[in-house]
Amino acid sequence: MTAKPSLFKRLQQFWICADLGLIHNRRERRMRILASLVMLIMGVIWAVFFALRGAWGMVVMDMVLILSGLTVFTLTWRQHVRSANLVLFSVLLVIISGMAAILDVPNATAPRATHLYLLPLGVAALMAFRDENLGLRYGVTSLCLLIFTVLAATSWTPLPGYSLPDDVRESGTWVQTCAAMLMLFALLHVLQTDAAERSELESELQKALARKQFELYYQPQVDSTGRVIGAEALLRWQHPERGLVSPAEFIEHAEQTGLIIPIGQWVLETACAQLRAWAQIPSHRALCLAVNISQKQFCQSGFVAEVLALITRYEIDASRLQLELTETMVVDDMEDLTRKMSMLVEHGVTFALDDFGTGYSSLSHLKRLPLSKLKIDQSFVFDALTDANSETIIRTVIALGQSMGLSVIAEGVETQAQQQFLLNSGCLQFQGYLLSRPLPLEAFSAFTQAHNS
Ligand code: C2E
Ligand code: CA
Ligand code: CA
Repeated sequence: MTAKPSLFKRLQQFWICADLGLIHNRRERRMRILASLVMLIMGVIWAVFFALRGAWGMVVMDMVLILSGLTVFTLTWRQHVRSANLVLFSVLLVIISGMAAILDVPNATAPRATHLYLLPLGVAALMAFRDENLGLRYGVTSLCLLIFTVLAATSWTPLPGYSLPDDVRESGTWVQTCAAMLMLFALLHVLQTDAAERSELESELQKALARKQFELYYQPQVDSTGRVIGAEALLRWQHPERGLVSPAEFIEHAEQTGLIIPIGQWVLETACAQLRAWAQIPSHRALCLAVNISQKQFCQSGFVAEVLALITRYEIDASRLQLELTETMVVDDMEDLTRKMSMLVEHGVTFALDDFGTGYSSLSHLKRLPLSKLKIDQSFVFDALTDANSETIIRTVIALGQSMGLSVIAEGVETQAQQQFLLNSGCLQFQGYLLSRPLPLEAFSAFTQAHNS
């Protein structure tokens, strides 16, 4: 039985980001944590400084900085990366521009320097919004550079008379310029290292596919009697130097580069070959195999034909193949999604909605989809016994599944207490470390034989 990690352990994982992906994700996460802490500390110091001088307008601005720092920290903690970035960049953009335009107005004695921070901010935005749409990817950086240009070329200020004294600004100019240039240098270095790592990972993934370094692990799914009813196929990369690499380290990158298409095809084909092999073994014959399908893969025009061709080629019972889609896919293109799902369902393939509860799919959307199963996301199971919201969400998902005639499986079940709670709430299928970790093929077969005979 796995105990719930202590707060210290969670903080440690939060910083190290142990299994959360690429090095650049980790680096970016740390940069966001540092930025939020700097916002908090600077906000407090400046608030005290200005409060002692009775400049209450500035104290209000510092409060905004403190609140924003807290918000960015919380959003990073909860892994809402996009929202954390949006808050971080909009607040910094407003505050730096405001300080440069109001407090740091240039004159013949002392030039302006605060606006220089807009340069590292623009470079950081290029990294943070790297995977966003074009508008965000280049929009934030362009805005930083535009405001920088206006502030560098004029002595314009919206509120004349609030500028700091010249002697403060004169010495401040050197400090600010050095700090901004150091930040710019550090960020350019990170940007360059990041690009090099990304292209290295891409070529490594291509080699991995060609050299057959990918492998499927199987995580048992059991019913309330402990019987194995199926498995989820989870991709692993047998890296020659790094050993077994988790998909969290490379799936996102494979999606961005399009490599997920050939990798996904390999997963589907291997899963179908496995179903065929299991059909020959009495204790394995009734197993269902769930396969994760990425959005890019599903959106391919030939996806349905590809799945049907594999079912025919391997002569498998299509109802043993379950495709796992995530909620984000449901929101994106309902028409195409429903059409493709229905075509596959007509041939017997079933669908599960993965990570259910974490997205924004509406009930009307859900009703239109030919789903068979809802998978309660592991984050709710993790908090089930300690957080009233998670508990309510779990009960609601189970009730929803029952009313829509869908089966419900809970993933990430780690303790007996969680399983008991789920069982009492009406959930009858489980997947998680309590029952078994994802296993290589032979170990999974032994596990199934032991539990199903
Ligand atoms: P997922 O689909 O949500 O898969 C469940 C993940 O939770 C797996 O991580 C599994 O090892 C882990 N897990 C299972 N039980 C427990 C538990 O009790 N506690 C905890 N903490 N974790 C548990 P894994 O194998 O690292 O996979 C991560 C993600 O990578 C998957 O999340 C899925 O989104 C993606 N993935 C894996 N294989 C494939 C694949 O073949 N194709 C695609 N497109 N994505 C894949
Ligand atoms: Ca899954
Ligand atoms: Ca999941």
